[in-house]
Amino acid sequence: MHPRRLCSLYRCFSTTKTRTKINFNAGPSQLSKNVLAQASQAILDYNNSGSSICELSHFNSEWKTLYNDTVKNTINFLNIPKSHKCFYMNGGGTHQFTTLFYNLCNKDSEVQVLVSGYWSQKAADELSKLCKVKIVNHASELKDDKKYSFTFYCENETVNGIEYKNGLSFKPKNHILVCDSCSILGGKHMDIGNYDVLFSSLSKNLGVSGSTLVILKKELLKDTSNKIPDVMNWREYYKLNGPTPSVFSIFFTLKNLKHMIKTGGLDYYDRINTIKSDLLYKYIDNSDGFYINTIDKKYRSRTNIVFTVKDSHELSKYFSDSCDLFGFIGTRHHFSDKSKGCRLSLYNSISIQDVEDIIDFMEKFKRFVLYKDLTTHYSNRFIKKTDSILVRKAEDNISELSSDEQIDMLANDIGRLNKL
Ligand code: PMP
Repeated sequence: MHPRRLCSLYRCFSTTKTRTKINFNAGPSQLSKNVLAQASQAILDYNNSGSSICELSHFNSEWKTLYNDTVKNTINFLNIPKSHKCFYMNGGGTHQFTTLFYNLCNKDSEVQVLVSGYWSQKAADELSKLCKVKIVNHASELKDDKKYSFTFYCENETVNGIEYKNGLSFKPKNHILVCDSCSILGGKHMDIGNYDVLFSSLSKNLGVSGSTLVILKKELLKDTSNKIPDVMNWREYYKLNGPTPSVFSIFFTLKNLKHMIKTGGLDYYDRINTIKSDLLYKYIDNSDGFYINTIDKKYRSRTNIVFTVKDSHELSKYFSDSCDLFGFIGTRHHFSDKSKGCRLSLYNSISIQDVEDIIDFMEKFKRFVLYKDLTTHYSNRFIKKTDSILVRKAEDNISELSSDEQIDMLANDIGRLNKL
């Protein structure tokens, strides 16, 4: 960014509140300060044991108590029905794409994948290394055929900002339904009973990376004749027979679940996440085309809000650079995005106040860019007139802007100049 541009931007936003950073990253996401404080204490000294949580042996009975407590709180927070079991497995969401094959298929199997964006495409790509994959691009094309071992879909496409708000209406009877809910589980009510398999990595609403929560219909935990490698085998993890677990990640999730339950549980997060995303979409839609989100309203994600600034790569980058300077981090879009726009992710620990703060910043940024455009336009038009001195004064003023009133005054000045 040109140093003069940066300098005037600083002055323009000098009234923007200085505060600790707000992290709008799509994952790892912002975490509750309260839970971070508990975790940092436990890293130094876990439960007054004189050793760190990171040193806790998984052969220790204390680990079993901690793990069972985590499972109990998971069931409670997510309302997991009795028909389903849950457990934590090492690795992230990508790991689960492969476990699906090992636990549900053989090399002759065929699976059906609803591709709605980056992550479901990635799942299809991973599965096609191991078995046949039928790709479907629209939910209405899904077939309830017993030739498929399962149907896979992604409830919330983190990269594309697309969400199936009420899940799928497709409920196959002849094969298994798998839901990737990495960036939405714990952020809204989901009827878990409707799915055979659901998974979510922990680096979003649930905690920190290292493990993935897997929820299965009980029947799927029955022993199979398949020879499944241990690191892929759901049953081994369920029975706590897997490799060394990611103790810290699971400990963090336990603290986070307790914190979220105390804060108001899923009812609370479902409600505030809707309020947060409604606020942001409303602001974007009323920005007169300055900020642009092109997703069909029916499918707009409540978690990941994607947009460009005036459909311009340069302005979107300018916006994200400016956000970084003012403590709003993680606003750049995913590297795979061709339009290279922006993305704001509103996971559970982003508050309504955080959203109001970014909207306030977005409005200031918008005014700054628009008035900068206006002064350039007017100075080009009036530069030959004797009054051009007035235009230059207006241009100088723009770098002195420090409040909304001053910005409005400048707009009036420019309006007056236009009539000269
Ligand atoms: N699915 C979705 C919807 C995701 O958002 C992500 C990660 N951002 C993944 C799968 C992959 O998870 P991981 O990076 O933990 O492997």
